[in-house]
Amino acid sequence: QRRKLVAGNWKMNGLRADLPEVAAIARAAVENPGVDVMLGLPFTLIEAAVGVAGALPIGAQDCHEADRGAHTGCISAAMLREIGARMVIVGHSERRADQHETSQDAWAKAAAAHRHGLEVILCCGESEAERDAGRAERVVQAQIEKSLPETAEGGWLTLAYEPRWAIGTGRTPTLDEIASIHAIARAKMRSLVGDAADGIRILYGGSVTGDNAGAILAAEHVDGALVGGASLTAAKFVPIIEAAA
Ligand code: 13P
Repeated sequence: QRRKLVAGNWKMNGLRADLPEVAAIARAAVENPGVDVMLGLPFTLIEAAVGVAGALPIGAQDCHEADRGAHTGCISAAMLREIGARMVIVGHSERRADQHETSQDAWAKAAAAHRHGLEVILCCGESEAERDAGRAERVVQAQIEKSLPETAEGGWLTLAYEPRWAIGTGRTPTLDEIASIHAIARAKMRSLVGDAADGIRILYGGSVTGDNAGAILAAEHVDGALVGGASLTAAKFVPIIEAAA
């Protein structure tokens, strides 16, 4: 069976003063060996965080699709690997919105990350208008079809379903709605990569907190959580790790 994964995404938060939170989260991960834990941090914090995180995998929230070159302001997967990053989040809805990234971009970034030995959390999820129009399933299926690398398997890739309207809003889908999209996502992955899809974890993300994590993590087809706001402090994040254990 797939081990549960609880991943934190710090987004554009975190200064060196927050490193003790990373250390405390790392200790909680050691104390809960039944669950995998990861943290996606700002580029600027990764190297210092690796130094205090022990065995806890530290990663980034984006990388460039190319290995090197004339791309002002961008960071390659090789650069991340060199400073000790072990994973990268790609295709997050905030990057789709703010940086106009597409599913094809996410595909190329995931492939670049894999070339350099990074694990990947590949994000998908519909907007509120798409859900209201009854298009959530089709949108997620299309995103997966365009972004899932042909070589995807659970050893290096995790899918995260994050409905945009649930991110940072305190609103979540019902457990049935989550289970239903996760089942559809797994079927779509199966149609693309066959049996390898069975090993790929599917995380739910969007307003996960210590209060709702137990129910969400126990929902059918949910292999873990991708957590934003509630991952920023050990006090908020550790209860989510414990709920998964
Ligand atoms: P929140 O947990 O703050 O809603 O963010 C979810 C998210 O976008 C994680 O990637």
